[in-house]
Amino acid sequence: MPLRGFEGRLCYGGDYNPEQWPEHVWVEDVQLMRQCGVNLVTVGVFAWSMLEPAPGQYEFGWLDRVLDLLHDNGISVVLATPTASPPPWFGFAHPDALPVTRDGVRLVHGSRDAYCPSAPAYRAAARRIATALAQRYAGHPALALWHVHNEYGTVCYCDHAAAAFRRWLRDRYGTLDALNEAWTTAFWSQRYADWEHVLPPRATPYLANPAQLLDFRRFCSDELLACFREQRDVLRELTPDVPVTTNFAIAPWVPIDPWAWAREVDLVAIDHYPSSNDGLAAEEETAFVADLARGWAGGRTWLLMEQAPDIVHNGGWMVPKRPGQLTRLSLSHVARGSLGVMNFQWRASPGGAEAFMSAMVPHAGPDARSLREVTHLGAQLANLGRHDGPVAADVALVWDPHSWWALQGPGLPAPGLDYWAMCRHVHGSAWRLGVTVDIVAPGEPLSGYRLVLVPALFLTTASAADAIKSFVDSGGHVVVWYLSGVADTNVRVHRGGWPGLLATTLGVRVERHYPLPHQATVALDPAGTGSSWSELVRPEGAEALLRYAKGDLAGEPAVTVHAGRAWYVSTRLDDATQQRFLAQVFAAANVAPAAPGAGHGVEVVRRGQRLYAINHTTSPAEIGAPSQGSQTGLRIEPGTYLVTDVDNLVTDIDSAAHR
Ligand SMILES: [Zn+2]
Repeated sequence: MPLRGFEGRLCYGGDYNPEQWPEHVWVEDVQLMRQCGVNLVTVGVFAWSMLEPAPGQYEFGWLDRVLDLLHDNGISVVLATPTASPPPWFGFAHPDALPVTRDGVRLVHGSRDAYCPSAPAYRAAARRIATALAQRYAGHPALALWHVHNEYGTVCYCDHAAAAFRRWLRDRYGTLDALNEAWTTAFWSQRYADWEHVLPPRATPYLANPAQLLDFRRFCSDELLACFREQRDVLRELTPDVPVTTNFAIAPWVPIDPWAWAREVDLVAIDHYPSSNDGLAAEEETAFVADLARGWAGGRTWLLMEQAPDIVHNGGWMVPKRPGQLTRLSLSHVARGSLGVMNFQWRASPGGAEAFMSAMVPHAGPDARSLREVTHLGAQLANLGRHDGPVAADVALVWDPHSWWALQGPGLPAPGLDYWAMCRHVHGSAWRLGVTVDIVAPGEPLSGYRLVLVPALFLTTASAADAIKSFVDSGGHVVVWYLSGVADTNVRVHRGGWPGLLATTLGVRVERHYPLPHQATVALDPAGTGSSWSELVRPEGAEALLRYAKGDLAGEPAVTVHAGRAWYVSTRLDDATQQRFLAQVFAAANVAPAAPGAGHGVEVVRRGQRLYAINHTTSPAEIGAPSQGSQTGLRIEPGTYLVTDVDNLVTDIDSAAHR
């Protein structure tokens, strides 16, 4: 469903919370929005207590005036349902609908997300406020998109949740015997004799059951998705022409399977707050997250719903973005498929727990460097306009939230096995080599690609293994990293050697894990180092490319290749070695950068007929091939970007973009 009013132009704006300000400020807001090129704002995300100050008593007058004012100024609205933060009265009216932690503590209002997703009173209240909003604003000319809730992710361990979890488990397993088998309850005397005895993974004396923990995350994803669907269906019925979305948060603790959720929204929308500004970490992470969003969207356009206009959360510190970084990161999202650039938030809050989050209009007021950059970005986006061609990528990376969750479980061979970091390391290495990567779900057909990257696919299903096997059998190239093929979907360990169902394709059998202590490294022969993890790898058809040089594994294979196109990597290669290795793999698989000169901080993405080139470095860059006679490439000044028609690039880059 198209975003009405945004044909040919990019969205630009952010969360707008006028309920925090007197109305005379709203007038300045819309004047400034126009100056900045803002054309879309998200309204009402946390406005429940202002919209329904007492049960069933609605106050829509202020929101009427806000929507009218925005529309009169040519600004469209993403209207949110406020269900992520029920008002204080809600918990007093329905104490059983407040969330309970795994330790049994019932949480109260005073922050946000104080609700139980499984409580009937919450579900009914959420449907009521969504219905009231849809009835009120159906047909309002400013309404472009519905934004249900905010960053779904709330987890509850109460009795409502327990009952819902049991219903979910009955649907999944049918019988208690099947549940007992799947959860390996013969271990530690956990066998269930009655469905009523099955609980959410509440606090236990010692390590909890990994399969129970994993299934509870899956249940939470489905339960929250049911909450979303209830509101979405109300909105679709009352406003059939308005698309419905919700903003995905991406973090280790969020129990959301984005592959499943993406099928239920009209438009995939994500929030992204880079977690480090060291070196090019924010740039690498932005590319990864944008590629994830495009993957979830099935290659179609998606929307960056939130980013911080002026900070990066660097290990808990709020670090100002570097000059020009907002524009460069925003362009990376657009190049990789976003319909535009939305920020959190428009005007910095006067108080509250996020008062020091950056905003498009900072506390310093309109005369500030950050607002000048916001204005500059608005002009750039207006100038660029919207072009929705497909992003060209010859390489796919298999990404699995279930493996991410399982690798946070108890009793693993080593602490700190960070699935996100492992995927980032692989994707980031490709980014540094200038190669564009699509993200795919396990089991998806891979035939459109030349190379598939598989980091730490800890839980490997038969369908995921079959997709990789048939891809390789038909001539595709694959790299599989350690911690893949270790267990099945219930964290039951594969017997007979790892990587389990992938072993034959890779021509190796891993006999034993050798986790490396924190910060320890192991030398590799002929060059490089490994860290974090190592393994006793027995080749069964594969040849060693790199071997362990020292320690108990001295002389044993560290990196192998089978039949010239199936690589296995048994340790975390240092950055330089990983890039050298991947460059070798790319050459074997005939994978080229998006343009000659791309990589090492020069980000190039081909999208349809457009080529986006962003120079994140402090040196001039040139893309294109001077090798073609006297022609020269396109120069990009430090910290700037260019967007051009691919035909303007004076080289043949078709080999980099066959899809
Ligand atoms: Zn609950």
